[in-house]
Amino acid sequence: MNTTKASTYQGKPTIALVVPCFNEQEVLPESANILLDVLNKMTSEGIANKESFILFVNDGSKDNTWCIIKNLHDSDPRFKAISLAHNRGQQSAMLAGLLTAKNMCDAAITVDADLQDSPDAIIEMVKKFAQGTDIVYGVRSSRATDSWAKRFTARTYYKLQAAFGLDTVYDHSEFRLMSRRALEMLSDYDERTLYLRGIMPHIGLISDTVSYDRRARLAGNTKYSPIALLSVAIDGITAFTAKPMRIIFSVGAFLLILDIIVAIYVLVSYLQGNAVSGWSSLMLSVWFLGSLILISLGIVGEYIGKIFVEVKHRPRYAIMEQLL
Ligand code: UDP
Ligand code: MG
Repeated sequence: MNTTKASTYQGKPTIALVVPCFNEQEVLPESANILLDVLNKMTSEGIANKESFILFVNDGSKDNTWCIIKNLHDSDPRFKAISLAHNRGQQSAMLAGLLTAKNMCDAAITVDADLQDSPDAIIEMVKKFAQGTDIVYGVRSSRATDSWAKRFTARTYYKLQAAFGLDTVYDHSEFRLMSRRALEMLSDYDERTLYLRGIMPHIGLISDTVSYDRRARLAGNTKYSPIALLSVAIDGITAFTAKPMRIIFSVGAFLLILDIIVAIYVLVSYLQGNAVSGWSSLMLSVWFLGSLILISLGIVGEYIGKIFVEVKHRPRYAIMEQLL
C-alpha cells in the first residue's frame, strides 16, 4: 500500500465525481452539463487529468434516471455509471460509487445530483487535495435556502452528536473529497449501518474544510421523507456510540434514589393514616415511568436491531449494471 501522498499519483490526479441518483430525471440533464463543465475547467486549469470522470450511481430509480444516464454515457465516456438492483438509500449508493471509483481515481468527491453543493467548491477541494490533504469536507457557510425548521433541527442534531462525543464536522453533509488512501481505508469499514459523516473523521487522515453556500435544488423535490431523515439521524448516533444506553442506566439509578425517598414518604403517610391521598401523583408517576421504560426499551432495541443487521452480514448493495 502507498504510504505517502506523492507516490499515489504522478503529475495531475484523476478525479472522480460520485453522484448518487434516486429519481432525479428533472435535474440530471442540467447537473450533468454543469459537472462536465467543472471537469473541463479542472483539466484546462491543469489541476486534474483528462481521465477524470463522473460516476453516477442509480439507486433503484423508478423514473427515467437510468435511461438519461445511459444516453449521457453514450454521448461522452467521461460519464460513467453503475446501477443498483434496488433502492438502498443515499449512504449505500455513495459507498457503492466510492468503492467502484476507488481503483480508477486518485481522489473521489461525492456530490448530490441536485447540485445544492457548489460546483466551484469542487475545484477548491481538488486544490487542497493537491497540497496533500486526504479528506476535504464541504461545510455550509449559510443555510439560507433551508426552512427555519430544517435549519433548527439540523443544527440541534449536530450539537446532540457533539454532546454524545461523536467526532463529526459541524454543518457538513455528504459533500466531500476523499483521497485514494482514504477510500482504501473506507473499504476496511465493513459495517452495514452506514454513516459516512461519522466514518470519515474516524479514519483520521489529514483533513481540511472548504466552505460554500448551499443553494436550492436545481429542480424536483427532496428524496427524503421525514421518516427516512429520522432514520439516518438515529443511525448517525447509534452506529457510533453506546452512550444513550449509559444515559438510561444513569436515569434508572437516579430514579432508584428517588424511589427510596418516595418509599419513605409512602410509609410515613401509611403510618399516619393518610394512605388514600395522592391519586394525582400516582397517575403521573405511572405514566411517566411507563413512557420512560418504553423509551428505554426502544433505545436498547435500536442497538439489538443493529446487531441483528450486522451479524447477518448481507451484501450492502448489489450492482446490476455497469457503464465504466
Ligand atoms: N438519494 C439516493 N437514494 C435515496 C435518497 C436520495 O441516492 O434513497 C440521492 C439523491 O438523488 C440526491 C442525494 O441523495 O443526489 C441527496 O438527496 P436529496 O437532495 O433529496 O436530499 P436533501 O438535499 O433534500 O437532504
Ligand atoms: Mg438535495
